[in-house]
Amino acid sequence: MNADQPVDLIVRSRRILTTNGWLDGAIEIRGGWISATATPDPSTPVQHPTARTIDVGNHLVLPGLVDSHAHIREPGFTDKEDWAHGSAAALAGGVTTVVDMPNVNPPPNTVERFLAHRALAQAGARSDFAHNVAGTVPSEIAGLADAGAAAFKVFMVRDARRTYPHMPGIAVDDHAELLAVCEAVATTGKVLMVHPHDSSLGELYSQRAIAQWGRGPVSYARSLRMNDGLVMDTGIATMLLLQRATGVRLHLLHVSTPNGIAMIRAAKAEGRAVTAEANPFHMLVVNSMATIERHGPFAMGQWLPEAHAEALWAAVLDGTIDVIGSDHTPHTRAEKEPGWQDMFATPGGSPTIQHYLSLLLTAAAEGQISVERIVELCATAPARLLGWAGRKGSIQVGADADLVVVDPDAQATIREADVLSKCGWTILDGRPVTGVPTMTIRRGEVAMVDGTVLATPGSGRHVTA
Ligand SMILES: [Zn+2]
Repeated sequence: MNADQPVDLIVRSRRILTTNGWLDGAIEIRGGWISATATPDPSTPVQHPTARTIDVGNHLVLPGLVDSHAHIREPGFTDKEDWAHGSAAALAGGVTTVVDMPNVNPPPNTVERFLAHRALAQAGARSDFAHNVAGTVPSEIAGLADAGAAAFKVFMVRDARRTYPHMPGIAVDDHAELLAVCEAVATTGKVLMVHPHDSSLGELYSQRAIAQWGRGPVSYARSLRMNDGLVMDTGIATMLLLQRATGVRLHLLHVSTPNGIAMIRAAKAEGRAVTAEANPFHMLVVNSMATIERHGPFAMGQWLPEAHAEALWAAVLDGTIDVIGSDHTPHTRAEKEPGWQDMFATPGGSPTIQHYLSLLLTAAAEGQISVERIVELCATAPARLLGWAGRKGSIQVGADADLVVVDPDAQATIREADVLSKCGWTILDGRPVTGVPTMTIRRGEVAMVDGTVLATPGSGRHVTA
């Protein structure tokens, strides 16, 4: 940041969402950062002899999204996603910073592996980026934090019937090992992100569901919601107790069960260092059995019964949920297709990163959530969680000029042909949306216009706290 740098871009709009609220005015950008926000006097419009001005009129200018939960698959699984494709999809969707998850091969659970992992991301990323590393080796945790890990991630799940996506090296389900991980991460001050699960209950419910309903996607969907999602709630309860014992900053991922939400709400009311994430697909796509029946393995993941979706929405709106992460989870069609016969042996998840802002803007247009709350959940809060407050996820002087311009009234239809993720499919094909990102600006450079990504691989920058 240097105030002597020339102004190189001015972005004008009648509706800019700054940290001080909506502004009818302009953002002045020098060397990639925001040097001023101003309400221009109409008689003296903001101008600068060397600066380019982009006037977006009535379109909204929002902070670029910070996605703290994306599966980019590099290294090891680049047949389904890599940084060049995943970050292009991100920029098309208004995401300017992508933080990936460590279930890659080899998983970044040592400093040496993390530095190699980061070098691959640096070569491919068009967006800015950082990494949630595997916090599975307690002796490596302090070194990983010093080397620039954004946060740590642990899956409390070992796959019994498949070897992916929860392979050794990323999963810890032994409570004593989990305690050691919590203690080690607590000393770093970083966040421990946890996929809450109970492996033995998961196996029991799988057996019961298979006996009752067979191996298809609907049976799998129901298995995870038996006893109201006890397989996930047991994981949440365990982690909340370990958090109390160690003081670690605990971030619970893809929360979606009423009892889990109640436990998190109670922990937060005690002022404990607990935050929670919701996924846009849980809120807006897989909240109907009809979607599961129609798209089968391509929609799985998870299914949210009506009462669970209602509890999740209440938590999103009342602040129990802090962050929305995309949980962008690309797999190839060939991996997904056998799930029609046996979902229990098929990897879960769907690609989401390109479309979740549009899905949420559509919900805003329908009055379900405000644009301000979307920005808090998708940009400001994840940046704060990772120690980037004031630099990422907000429009204010001194922040990186990461912006997404949105036409909130645009009616569009999501098309699979437009998917930029390497996996090449979406279950959202044909879905109408209201509100689309029309331009993404990453550190003062126009990185996407009307769906065309201009930023090149390697132009993204690693973000550190
Ligand atoms: Zn995930």
